[in-house]
Amino acid sequence: MILGCIADDFTGATDLANTLTRRGMHTVQTIGIPKAAAPEADAIVVALKSRTIPAAEAVQQSLDACRWLKANGAKQIFFKYCSTFDSTDQGNIGPVADALLDELQSPFTIACPAFPENGRTIYLGHLFVGNELLSDSSMRNHPLTPMKDSNLVRVLGKQTPHKVGLVPWKIVKQGAPAIAEAFAALEAEGIRHAIVDAVEDKDLENIGAASSALALITGGSGMAIGLPANFRVARLIPKREGASAVPKIGGPGIVLSGSCSAATLGQVAAFAAKHPAHAIDPVALAAAPEKAVAELLGWAREKLKKGPALIYASAPPERVAAIQAQLGREQAGTMIEHALGAIASGLADQGVRRFVVAGGETSGAVVSALKVEALEIGPQIAPGVPACLSYGSPRYALALKSGNFGGPQFFTEALKALA
Ligand code: ADP
Repeated sequence: MILGCIADDFTGATDLANTLTRRGMHTVQTIGIPKAAAPEADAIVVALKSRTIPAAEAVQQSLDACRWLKANGAKQIFFKYCSTFDSTDQGNIGPVADALLDELQSPFTIACPAFPENGRTIYLGHLFVGNELLSDSSMRNHPLTPMKDSNLVRVLGKQTPHKVGLVPWKIVKQGAPAIAEAFAALEAEGIRHAIVDAVEDKDLENIGAASSALALITGGSGMAIGLPANFRVARLIPKREGASAVPKIGGPGIVLSGSCSAATLGQVAAFAAKHPAHAIDPVALAAAPEKAVAELLGWAREKLKKGPALIYASAPPERVAAIQAQLGREQAGTMIEHALGAIASGLADQGVRRFVVAGGETSGAVVSALKVEALEIGPQIAPGVPACLSYGSPRYALALKSGNFGGPQFFTEALKALA
């Protein structure tokens, strides 16, 4: 392994693994720190669920992951968080980055959540989401990490006792040598974290090239765009174009959807128009969970004899609000995640090996129900969503999609890509 990555959530890890793979690194995503030996790969992305847990726990989990990655050969560590810098004054970006710097005995790192291709740009330290400042975007109302300040120098400054600086775009646009000089100058001033401006994807390539000597890099998945080239220049990886195809897995394919995002609702409607689809009734599920899961499994067994099928809890906002009012927000979410996990494992017992899953939390629940510890990352199906193949036995072909990813026909495309 050359690059060791720590991601603070599950589908964010997949997104990062997809970016690295597309740029020619053979990448494996692990679900937490695997118990088995480290898989063979150029890059390993350890997926944690540490974005909104207490900072001390996030620090501990990230340090454990860092030590495991270093022990297995990582030459550089990448800490991946959301491109909207999801965090609070308590963390967890600042505390985790500080702890990783201490662990790596390094005085300086950068923080760059930009991904211009996906509408995340940084100018003079201010993060924009599309055409809006972060603090004017819907992220200002996020239930767990409301982002009410767009000035990342200030935001990160509240999360660390150390000095936070800025590499402005007028330097970034001059290219990698100027950026590397700016890093050295900031480090000499005693700055520990530098927010780096980026307004075009080309900037990320230059920032990546300027970061080759850093022990720790922090950023969004876009920040990884420029890293594989460093390892190619250093002759640590061969020249490769994108991912090699993952082996095809035959047999029936199922779509499980627990995402209620707008894109997913469209995908559910498009798939249900042409294929058997069964909605989960959360009230019936709450009343008799085992009976409801058994019925859904019986339904799926029949339908899968003839072709693919969909089981979904996805519902429009007003229906979700009504269910949450009746059952409680978290209780409803966890109950549905458990049910979809139980359905996945019941289907696996029936021999199903191809799963398309919609929803970040839902994907985490399904992968853990299937007892998957690591995923090999294959070619991209849609931006941010690669085809994955699980390690271990049996092997599953998986497409794990966070809420708003994928076009209307994503489910059909994904089943085809996995078959
Ligand atoms: P996304 O990636 O779109 O955010 P997630 O799977 O991360 O999707 O989150 C969706 C959450 O909504 C899950 O906890 C899921 O169990 C829950 N959920 C799904 N359907 C319903 C529903 N009909 N009512 C209430 N909650 C639901």
